[in-house]
Amino acid sequence: MPELPEVETVVRDLRPLLLGRSFVKIAVSRKSLRRKWSRAWEATLLDRCVHAIRRRGKWIVIELGIPCLVAHLGMTGQLTVASADQPREAHTHVVFTLDDQTELRFRDVRRFGSVTVFPTMVHADRYFLQISLGPEPFDLTDGRWFGSLNATRRNLKAILLDQTIVAGVGNIYADESLFEARLHPTTLGNAVTRKQAKSLRLAMVAVLTRAIEKRGSSIRDYIGGSGLKGEMQNEFRVYGRTGEPCRRCRTTIVRIVLAGRSTHYCPRCQVLGTIVEPQRLRRARASRSPKATG
Ligand SMILES: [Zn+2]
Repeated sequence: MPELPEVETVVRDLRPLLLGRSFVKIAVSRKSLRRKWSRAWEATLLDRCVHAIRRRGKWIVIELGIPCLVAHLGMTGQLTVASADQPREAHTHVVFTLDDQTELRFRDVRRFGSVTVFPTMVHADRYFLQISLGPEPFDLTDGRWFGSLNATRRNLKAILLDQTIVAGVGNIYADESLFEARLHPTTLGNAVTRKQAKSLRLAMVAVLTRAIEKRGSSIRDYIGGSGLKGEMQNEFRVYGRTGEPCRRCRTTIVRIVLAGRSTHYCPRCQVLGTIVEPQRLRRARASRSPKATG
């Protein structure tokens, strides 16, 4: 599933191809996506100029003056610009013909993705509020992040996957960030110290930044907006490396299932700290001298 770095790559690829262009024709296949396309949207989009294209979490937002087009790639979605004379691949569900004889194409084999139109940006932002979309990982402060971790007894893997706590992280970058921070994925949120929370936040930022530089990870269907694949899959430390030696300590990488998802970690680099029960934690905090906190 495309995560923040993949979606960011699509946005960066599409930006020069879409800015200033307008849609002259829209064709939609009969098969419906996760959210049904409405024919009424078409009139609001035609002959309007693309003003901006940006990412929010795993969402792609294309602003056309007042209305905006919001796309989610779901599991297998691809949003690319191709020359109109290039044959359309199977599973291409929405095609926007641009005024320069190119096409913005939404292709999605499994159809868990969506393309939706909001009448204004205010409506789109209201939608993101409605689904409680959390902050971008790059915008998190240490205080807010520690507060979010501290408020829950769920494990770190589940917390990282929760889009209401931090937007854009999925299975791959959750595992990679936990390895980078040397934290065991089953560590409970409320057992994390301020120092560990900070190192996890910095690890997440470092891993995502590196992945954007590498144009994301192409494991299955993901390609960027220009059709080019990503290369981050060649640099994974733990994700998908079950049974292989840790690149840091040579210990065999282990796979477990957490929050219903495959989770990969190094049992030596990511040692589980003592699980502190809430009552014990509170008592420990109360007895700590002010100097020792932080
Ligand atoms: Zn290791």
